[in-house]
Amino acid sequence: MTEIIDGKLVSKKILQELSEKIALLEKKPSLAVIIVGEDPASKIYVNLKKKKAEELGIVSTVIEMSQDVSESELLNKIDELNKDESVNAILVQMPLPKHIDANKVIEKISPQKDVDCFHAYNVGKIATNNKPFVYPCTPKGILELLNFYNIEISGKHVVVIGRSNIVGRPMAQMLLNKNATVTICHSKTNNLEEITKQADILISAVGKAGLIKKEMVKDNVVVIDVGMNRDENGKLCGDVDFEQVKQKASYITPVPGGVGPMTICSLMVNTFDLFKTSQEKI
Ligand code: NAD
Repeated sequence: MTEIIDGKLVSKKILQELSEKIALLEKKPSLAVIIVGEDPASKIYVNLKKKKAEELGIVSTVIEMSQDVSESELLNKIDELNKDESVNAILVQMPLPKHIDANKVIEKISPQKDVDCFHAYNVGKIATNNKPFVYPCTPKGILELLNFYNIEISGKHVVVIGRSNIVGRPMAQMLLNKNATVTICHSKTNNLEEITKQADILISAVGKAGLIKKEMVKDNVVVIDVGMNRDENGKLCGDVDFEQVKQKASYITPVPGGVGPMTICSLMVNTFDLFKTSQEKI
C-alpha cells in the first residue's frame, strides 16, 4: 500500500503548536520581508508569508523597494534591520533585479536574523554539522515530513536531484548529517536512471514536469517531489509522474499538498527560533 504524504496535515499540526507557543509570549516574534520591484509571483509569495505570519501572531513588516533601487540603498536597509532589536528575522524575496548582486545581499543579513538560512555562516555550520541558527526552509520541511511518517534516514541511500543553494545542496548536507548515504545528481549527471533506481529515498528538486518516470525507481521507494511546474493544461505539478510512480512507491508526496506547505511552515518556525535566540542573548 502506498501512503500519500500529507504536507498540509503535517504543516497544520506544526503551526498549531507554534501558534500556541506564540500566544503565551508577551513579546511577539517579528519578521521583516523586503521585496524589490513588482514581480507578480514574488508579490504573491510575500503576501502569503505575511498572512501566515499574522495568523500565528508573528509581527510582520513588508518593506517595498522600487525596481531601480540601488544596491547600496538595499544594503543600508538590511543594515538598519540588522541593528533594529525589534526585528528577529529578515527575508529578502528573490529574485532581485539584475543590477543587484544577490550574494552581497545575502551576506549582508546578520546570520542571527537569516531566516532563509542562505548566509555562508549558517550554510557552513550545516556543512560542518555544527548548529546553525536555523535550517533552510524546504529541506527542513522535508525532514519534518520524513520524521512525521517515521521514515528511517540513517543508512539509507538517498538520491537528491538538484544542486541549488536553496534545496539540493543543503538537503544533501542535512541528510548526510542524519547518516544517510547521499548521492547528488544534477543537469550534467550521466545515466540519471541508473542512479535513481538505487534510491531508497528519492528527492527531486529540478523543476521539470515528468522527469521521474516509473522505470526510474525501485519498488517501495520513498519519493519526495519538490518540483513546482505547470503541465500542458496549466495545472500545478511536480517533477514526478505521480500516477505511475505511485504504483511502486511506499510513500510519495503529491504536488500540490506535499512539500509546498512545509516550506512556509519552516519559515514560521525559523522566525520563532531566531526570536528565541535573540532572547537568549539578553
Ligand atoms: P534551480 O533551477 O536552482 O535548480 C534546479 C537543479 O536541477 C539544478 O541544480 C540543475 O543542475 C538540476 N537539473 C536541471 N535539469 C536536470 C536534469 N535534466 N536532470 C537532473 N538534474 C537537472 O531550482 P530550485 O530553486 O532548486 O528549485 C527546483 C524546483 O523546486 C523548482 O520547480 C522550484 O519551483 C521548486 N521549489 C519548490 C519549493 C517548494 O516549497 N515546494 C521550494 C523551492 C523550490
